[in-house]
Amino acid sequence: MTTYPALRMFIAGQWIADGEAGTMEVVNPSTGAVIGRCPKASTAQLDAALKAAGDAFPSWSATPGAERHAILRRAADLLRARAESIARVITAEMGKPRAQGVGEILSACDTIDFLGEEAKRRGGRLIPTRGNQLLAQMVTHEPIGPAVLLTPWNFPVNLPAKKIAGALAAGCTAIFKPAENTPASAQLLVECFVEAGLPEGVLNLVHGDPGPIAEHLIASPVTRKVSFTGSTAIGKQLGALAATHMKRFAPELGGHAPVIVSKNADLARAVAMCATTKFRNAGQVCVSPTRFLVAKEVYDEFVAEFAARTSRIKVGDPGADDSVDMGPLAHARRVAAMEQVVADAGGNRGEVVTGGSAIAGQGFFFQPTVIANPAPDSRFMIEEPFGPVAGIVPFDDIADAVRIANSLRYGLAAYAFSADLDEAHALGRALRAGMVGINQLIVSSPETPFGGVGDSGFGSEGGEEGYLAFTDTKLVMLAKAGG
Ligand code: NAD
Repeated sequence: MTTYPALRMFIAGQWIADGEAGTMEVVNPSTGAVIGRCPKASTAQLDAALKAAGDAFPSWSATPGAERHAILRRAADLLRARAESIARVITAEMGKPRAQGVGEILSACDTIDFLGEEAKRRGGRLIPTRGNQLLAQMVTHEPIGPAVLLTPWNFPVNLPAKKIAGALAAGCTAIFKPAENTPASAQLLVECFVEAGLPEGVLNLVHGDPGPIAEHLIASPVTRKVSFTGSTAIGKQLGALAATHMKRFAPELGGHAPVIVSKNADLARAVAMCATTKFRNAGQVCVSPTRFLVAKEVYDEFVAEFAARTSRIKVGDPGADDSVDMGPLAHARRVAAMEQVVADAGGNRGEVVTGGSAIAGQGFFFQPTVIANPAPDSRFMIEEPFGPVAGIVPFDDIADAVRIANSLRYGLAAYAFSADLDEAHALGRALRAGMVGINQLIVSSPETPFGGVGDSGFGSEGGEEGYLAFTDTKLVMLAKAGG
């Protein structure tokens, strides 16, 4: 039985249950039941969070990296110890099966550890001078300042953890605004940082309507950096706003990842991985493999096996049954979006091989769906589906597959399977994306940078880049005092 916590904000070191702008309902997507009421921040409460982050910045940024690391390490340890119970809250809020939630949280812990350690490791550099009068040219990485962190619901612990840990490790303070439907996951994460000993004002948590909150926080002179994960459309809006106020902006946006399966691939391995990974988190993953481009020699076998595996996926309420493979979509709008995707594919040559419909009931369920042979220029193959629908298209010539793969404006993740070493290497080079997986579908680890190109955004989170993203580069040129 999951105990859903009373929802609060955290501003200037205080837990606040009273949202001066009212409350909003939180709904369990498996049942449609209201499970909580979340306080919404008023403008005055946002201003209090901004003031707290601004006031705390001078001392937090001057705190030695080793001390910042010690706090982050304690936070990661607390989160690790609570992984099981927080995973159950994730399930209740956005429908992820518990085991996937635990995996997400443990990955977040490793990311917090890694970024915390960067606070001790990440020095600057000395550049040789051009004359004896000049003693040193020193490059350092200075914390940017208070950061606004805007996160979505699909990984409600791991995505915030990357941003919070990067910001705090680098010496920035932060105001964190999570997705409206996952406030408790955010709160339980923030509790770990608070209990780890974070000084007052360093991390603030606010809830409410995303548009007005983002506008207010970005426009404030206190804010120096804005980090956003979400859709490309909103990312463009927020980027324009950030530019108006000359704020550093980090967008991690949508994707529509291609998977090229060569005739030289280990087909059994490729199809097993694809059919499992596609439906993880009900396909609501920005790096989810979604456009399968398969060599015509192995196409029929790939489609048949992919569909057979897909039809065996157990769908249900993961809060009630731990053996469920795939839970609901996050909210009713995503079900409507999947219905549109299937209708569009059907109108563009696509054949529904398995699935294709919403599942009747109280929750927001959609069948795991495979669509064979949709036209490559159909809307489905161009716009990010962000749900449990896979499209599979045959190709004659691998150069064509690369051209189709690279033809969209997105460029987050791309994948290819080939057991021919030269071909695999060439595909890795030819695919245009921020992250490429060859013969596997994982493109993320605590130590590696995560980010896209084109309409998928720019910059990186995670890895040393995830720390440097919260810093400004500074040069000090030191000359002899006399002589
Ligand atoms: P949505 O646009 O309603 O919301 C997505 C997220 O953006 C939410 O977390 C929300 O809080 C935030 N948001 C919405 N409007 C905002 C605004 N004006 N200012 C600041 N933040 C705002 O979409 P949805 O139906 O919940 O999610 C589906 C779409 O969101 C998908 O198409 C996908 O592209 C995108 N998405 C991407 C990621 C990712 O990891 N890149 C994660 C979740 C959602």
